[in-house]
Amino acid sequence: MNQNTFESLGLRRNLCRVLDDMGYLEPTPIQTQAIPALLQAKDLLGVAQTGTGKTAAFALPLLQLLDENNVSPHPRQPRALILAPTRELALQIHGEFSAFGRDLKLRHAVIFGGVGQSPQVRRLLKGVDILVATPGRLLDLAAQEHVDLSLVSALVLDEADRLLDMGFVRDVKRIIAQTPANRQSLLFSATMPKEVADLSRDILKNPVRVDVSPKQVTVQDIEQRVVNVDNSDKQQVLEKLLHDTAVSRAIVFTRTKHGADRVTRKLIKAGIGAEAIHGNKSQNARQRALDNFKTGDAWVLVATDIAARGIDINAVSHVINHELPHEPETYVHRIGRTGRAGSAGVAWSLVDTSEQGRLRAIEKLIKFSPRELEVQLPYREREHHASATRGTRPNDCARNNQASNGSRRPRRRRRRRAA
Ligand code: ADP
Ligand code: MG
Repeated sequence: MNQNTFESLGLRRNLCRVLDDMGYLEPTPIQTQAIPALLQAKDLLGVAQTGTGKTAAFALPLLQLLDENNVSPHPRQPRALILAPTRELALQIHGEFSAFGRDLKLRHAVIFGGVGQSPQVRRLLKGVDILVATPGRLLDLAAQEHVDLSLVSALVLDEADRLLDMGFVRDVKRIIAQTPANRQSLLFSATMPKEVADLSRDILKNPVRVDVSPKQVTVQDIEQRVVNVDNSDKQQVLEKLLHDTAVSRAIVFTRTKHGADRVTRKLIKAGIGAEAIHGNKSQNARQRALDNFKTGDAWVLVATDIAARGIDINAVSHVINHELPHEPETYVHRIGRTGRAGSAGVAWSLVDTSEQGRLRAIEKLIKFSPRELEVQLPYREREHHASATRGTRPNDCARNNQASNGSRRPRRRRRRRAA
């Protein structure tokens, strides 16, 4: 008999029914721990990686509490506030609130920068129960008195480490200062750097602490390989790897926005359906990229860390690191985007000799050394066979050979500029 049900956590029928319809069979560990405490209006400090089910962990109890205490929201005065670091994450959270709250009469809105404010202002004026926001736009609208936070009974900081990373610390503090002191507060973060710990001490009162960072487990389940390759050959290796028939949907991580654009351009030129997503893109362009990726029109998403963080994309078969990140933890976040929901994923890292130090730091964190994956480069062989260290040995990975013959995707050679 299965005791671990959403109902046993104290959630009412009208929410459980929706979860059933959505295929949520049983709560994840963070949901099991957080939901009962939050239903008792406790504060909460949640340490958890992406993909652990945090959104439902806070959205479900907040919806139930707001619904139980059902007063119509006053114009411009939201009753619950969720702060998220990026527009994509805000939209995603808002979408989940709408889905879970399908059968409730609560009103939701999402606001973020980079788009016109008028529709957001109109929405706030009508009154919303739950407001999901990025900090910049929220402060803007508050300064213009389009939103008043004095009736916020519940405050959630999602991905707090990212919020602070992105320089929102002052904004976040100014926002919190506008909310009532007797609110319920929740803070979620994948990592606990000092700034986040300080902030949580400032804003949480006797919080229940939920820690579900299954770092080792997650990491061990992912098949990780390292491809030793010169920077100048990375694009070619990437294209070859992506033509592997086992790659059904991939996220390619680059360190810079510029790099993401460059890689994407070249992939498209090579006939690979790719989209780039990063902070320099307009809101519409980012959403379009994500939609194309989710529907499968583009099967490769090239992303920077901040843009990709927290975005929920299922069924990513491969994560490819075009460069290794400077922070070893970021590597763990990146590869965590594959192999979600029980399926084992694959992570490949393209590593230039200049990145060996970063690789060592990662190996120290994950406590093992990913095996090497050798990739042959047909075009570069002649030019590079003198660099005996890498790249030109017969590869140990049969799938690469298969991929170049029997690829199900049209394969186009990279065009070479005519002399
Ligand atoms: P996080 O915020 O921790 O990154 P999300 O809340 O975005 O995680 O959840 C990750 C994915 O898992 C989403 O697709 C979500 O719909 C799904 N999910 C969350 N909880 C459950 C559950 N109990 N059963 C099935 N799927 C779930
Ligand atoms: Mg999340």
